[in-house]
Amino acid sequence: MPTLKSIDIRFVKGVGEKRAALLKEHGVCNLEDLIYLFPRRYLDRSTVKPLGQVQEGEETTILGKIIRVEEVRGKKPRFIATISDGKGFLQCIWFKSLYIWRRAFKPGDSFAFFGKITYFRGLQMVHPEYDRIDADGNWNTLNTGVIVPIYPSSEKLRLAGMHSRSMRRLIQSSLELYGELIKESLPDEVLQKNELMPLQPALQNVHSPLSQRELEMARRRLKFDEFFYLELILTLRRQKMRTQAQGIAFADVGDKTRQLIENLPFELTAAQKRVCHEIWEDMHSPMAMNRLLQGDVGSGKTIVALIAMLMAIENGYQAAMMAPTEILAEQHFRNINTALEQIGVRTVILLGGQTKKVRELYLGEIKNGVAQVIIGTHALIQETVEFKNLGIAIVDEQHRFGVVQRGALQKKGKTPDVLVMTATPIPRTLSMTLYGDLDVSIIDELPKGRKPIRTVWRPSKRRKEIYHYIRDELVQGAQAYIVFPLVEESEKIDLRAATEFYEKVKKGFFEQFAVGLLHGRMKSAEKDAVMQNFKSGKTQLLVATTVIEVGVDVPNATIMTIEHAERFGLTQLHQLRGRVGRGEKESICILIAETPLNAEARRRINTMCETNDGFKIAEVDLELRGPGEFLGTRQSGLPDFKIADVVADADVLLQARKEAFRVVENEIALKQAMLRAERWDFFHRYLRKLEFAKIS
Ligand code: ADP
Ligand code: MG
Repeated sequence: MPTLKSIDIRFVKGVGEKRAALLKEHGVCNLEDLIYLFPRRYLDRSTVKPLGQVQEGEETTILGKIIRVEEVRGKKPRFIATISDGKGFLQCIWFKSLYIWRRAFKPGDSFAFFGKITYFRGLQMVHPEYDRIDADGNWNTLNTGVIVPIYPSSEKLRLAGMHSRSMRRLIQSSLELYGELIKESLPDEVLQKNELMPLQPALQNVHSPLSQRELEMARRRLKFDEFFYLELILTLRRQKMRTQAQGIAFADVGDKTRQLIENLPFELTAAQKRVCHEIWEDMHSPMAMNRLLQGDVGSGKTIVALIAMLMAIENGYQAAMMAPTEILAEQHFRNINTALEQIGVRTVILLGGQTKKVRELYLGEIKNGVAQVIIGTHALIQETVEFKNLGIAIVDEQHRFGVVQRGALQKKGKTPDVLVMTATPIPRTLSMTLYGDLDVSIIDELPKGRKPIRTVWRPSKRRKEIYHYIRDELVQGAQAYIVFPLVEESEKIDLRAATEFYEKVKKGFFEQFAVGLLHGRMKSAEKDAVMQNFKSGKTQLLVATTVIEVGVDVPNATIMTIEHAERFGLTQLHQLRGRVGRGEKESICILIAETPLNAEARRRINTMCETNDGFKIAEVDLELRGPGEFLGTRQSGLPDFKIADVVADADVLLQARKEAFRVVENEIALKQAMLRAERWDFFHRYLRKLEFAKIS
């Protein structure tokens, strides 16, 4: 009996060689891929609006006939199609690649357009998505209550005649022809307990819904599948780590650790103390620790990490800490080395650009155990690095690394305890999915005496005034950062902006002060020297690119100006701002942005001005960018769900997670579920992504 997966897309009726090649390019290689190619949206009476009723700012679907097309040349070449639905007019506008639009839109043709309505001398949609309406006019059928699925379709597919409508036909005929091959993917018991629609009708209904209600049930069921198996994997993994992996049972908290805590210039916050206890409990127990430490920027995670490392060392093990940038690794090294040197603990640092001699020396010390604390960048996880007995592995700013890198550091020891730290607060449902296999500790309190950072937004024409303000503050003994964005696409230009600015002001406007320049292209030693000068107060003003984004800690710096703030993401702005407000003095963050701002940039900047709360900021960021962008799906380990959405479908996720827990507890149910999962591609893909070949 063939399976959906075993039927190559070439042999699916109605496809043929040419289309098969194109579909494969789009990841549709077999019948299963085709049937799991879900509509992007649906058209029905309730979602389509007559043009007379649409309002500026709303996202909507409209149906209409093209009555005129025109091309405007000049600085901003654009293609304009005027649409009418008999009740009103709308202009759809596309910039660039005019030849594509010229080919796609001919007067007389009917389309559905999806997008946001804007207003400029009339109603407009800029770069809307679109779908051609059948010659027989789907809008007539719409009036009879039919729900029409709309499929994703690239330009290439369209040009080859694979419009959404051809896709619709192809998938529907495939379901009729091969529908029997669809095998239920969930155990009966799970279906019943959770009142889920069986798989076959669910797939039928997602592609040709009988009604809104049926469509909802179908979608819910398919989302459940994705979440359930993901959570099952995570639950199993966690269980396995709990029961099998014999970790290290560190025996005692030593005197040096106690002394270190006593001699701190400050008292640990209650949250830091609680978190240290949670970590010690894990370290003390024979099971391997896998803990995520979350705490907003400036909440004091580093000292917690240092305490954990010292506890491991006093029990005769080595400790390693990995940071995403050289600047941050250097800073950690300096702080930690200062604290540990005097109590006789040897700390070394591994970076990419070190000389062979230094590197070899350190590698030797790491291998024979002379080096007890090892700090570094990615250089830590290179093959040549061998530890004598790694007891605890710490990853700072975990969100900058992928799951795989976390694993790689862990593998440097036998079964070391692992602590990953992040300042990006991740909404609960997301962290359950991403870090479902981790225990979570949260530092939910800032050290005493921190004043909230005042954040303001100023248009670029007020720059002069801002610089005068900075100069006045510097005279009073303050220190300031001026940050320039560095985005990949325009890296060279951006770098030049920062460098030119630096050259200009150090001999001009800020000449009475010592000014530093810091960017990613500098050599490690140079970067380090610049940071040290700023930290020690030798320089008062630091012109920098976003290399200072993570971790940098200079408490006397109280002013930050961010140029082109409109180009930064929210989380990034918050991280950057976290470089000030680290001492007792009140700090200010000035966002300079070109006007006019688009709606999204305005929302980001307003959010920054309104709150200092990392959780609120992360939520807005997640809302604006979606989970994939927010986390960087590719490296985060988040699976590429076909239908589920970790944020929007949080309720389904919670249900699926609960069910996964239940199933793991019940041997028979687990067996059944695993048998079915075996057949399911998503499951295997995800296993691969998490880098384990087999789960049991
Ligand atoms: P983050 O959580 O962003 O990594 P850091 O660990 O860099 O924060 O700490 C920020 C600053 O706060 C550092 O200068 C650190 O010495 C200081 N700090 C940490 N804990 C306390 C505390 N309990 N009281 C006062 N200052 C603290
Ligand atoms: Mg930090």
